[in-house]
Amino acid sequence: MITLAERVQQIKPSPTLAVNAKAKALKASGVDILNFSVGEPDFDTPEHVCEAGKKAIDERFTRYTAVPGIPELRQAIVERLRADRGWEYEPDQVQVACGGKHGLYNMAQALFNPGDEVIIPTPYWVSYPPIVQLAGGTPVFLPLAEEQEFDIDPDRLAACASDRTRGIVLNSPSNPIGSVFSRRALEAVAQMALERDWIVISDDIYDTIVYGDEPLPHILDIDPAMKERTLVLNGVSKSFAMTGWRIGYTVGPQHIIAAMNKIQSQSTSNPSSIAQKAALAAVSGPQDFPRMMKEAFVERLDYIVGRLRSMPGITCVRPRGAFYVFPNVSAYYGKRAGAKTIQGSLDLADYLLDEARIATVPGIAFGADDFIRFSFAASMEVIREGMDRLEAALGRLAS
Ligand code: PMP
Ligand code: GLU
Repeated sequence: MITLAERVQQIKPSPTLAVNAKAKALKASGVDILNFSVGEPDFDTPEHVCEAGKKAIDERFTRYTAVPGIPELRQAIVERLRADRGWEYEPDQVQVACGGKHGLYNMAQALFNPGDEVIIPTPYWVSYPPIVQLAGGTPVFLPLAEEQEFDIDPDRLAACASDRTRGIVLNSPSNPIGSVFSRRALEAVAQMALERDWIVISDDIYDTIVYGDEPLPHILDIDPAMKERTLVLNGVSKSFAMTGWRIGYTVGPQHIIAAMNKIQSQSTSNPSSIAQKAALAAVSGPQDFPRMMKEAFVERLDYIVGRLRSMPGITCVRPRGAFYVFPNVSAYYGKRAGAKTIQGSLDLADYLLDEARIATVPGIAFGADDFIRFSFAASMEVIREGMDRLEAALGRLAS
């Protein structure tokens, strides 16, 4: 058999996408599965965005575009960031890529050399470590504690730093926890980054889904000097329910964006011309859609956290953003389902899929085996039924 490159043997396929594929296949074969696995809004892309996509086809906007994305879209991103955040960027400091995931891939390829260490707060989103590894870098995991509501502990951060550290990835609100980083935590990160010449990757993909009225602290607002060493990642997948259109963007220092454009020119050339026109309608048009989605999510959040916390042995930090809950289910490890003992999150997620027909993502996929993740981007009916099934299935486990 033809041998494969070493780099591909280091990584596994995305576990969130794998569970989703399995849940969808079971559903297609007639099994009554409730899918809490993949993180994508259960809303349709707004009408005006779809219309912009159709118009792009009708007008035959179907050729290669500029490598970093069409100028109108980059300009619209600059204006949105100015209006929403008060940040000043130029269009040549923006790269549009084929999804936020691809933006991350481009930055890792542009920044990291073999041996470079990148700090990843853990639990982490599943794709951060492999994207760093595919660039030859080494992920260094910074543990976040449930007792501290998963905030960054400055002492633990300092303990992760070495002469080889090149940067850190921040995700607030986070996938899989929905937690946000405090100002104090971000100050500690900024101080380390400035002293030690780190790049900070701020993944803001869930920044339109924040519960409560307090504005989120951001690393760029901590110290103006951070602008030279921060890449901000965002996109329309989550905010405009556009996961399939594959449009994300990065803003940051011009020389890094230029390097990322070089990578993009030699890999995908540009993101889809049609999807870019649709994203332009999303970014430059009315912003009430993300607000409407957030209002729908709040009701689901209150319900699912309430139900989880009422189940014996489960602890659950209340998410401050995004659409995930990440309960600690380790009290059920060591219990038995027939002849089988539940050893960890993989076993529990399998048990729940087989016995309760609910699809979840095991915490181990996010580097945290005591937990499982539920996406509550599902209807209230599905959530209610799912929680009933979960409670009954957990109740059937024997000590
Ligand atoms: N960052 C995080 C934390 C995510 O959960 C996702 C969702 N897949 C992404 C980035 C990238 O999303 P997309 O590629 O769809 O823009
Ligand atoms: N970010 C989503 C999730 O965590 C989408 C799947 C993926 O891109 O891995 O479920």
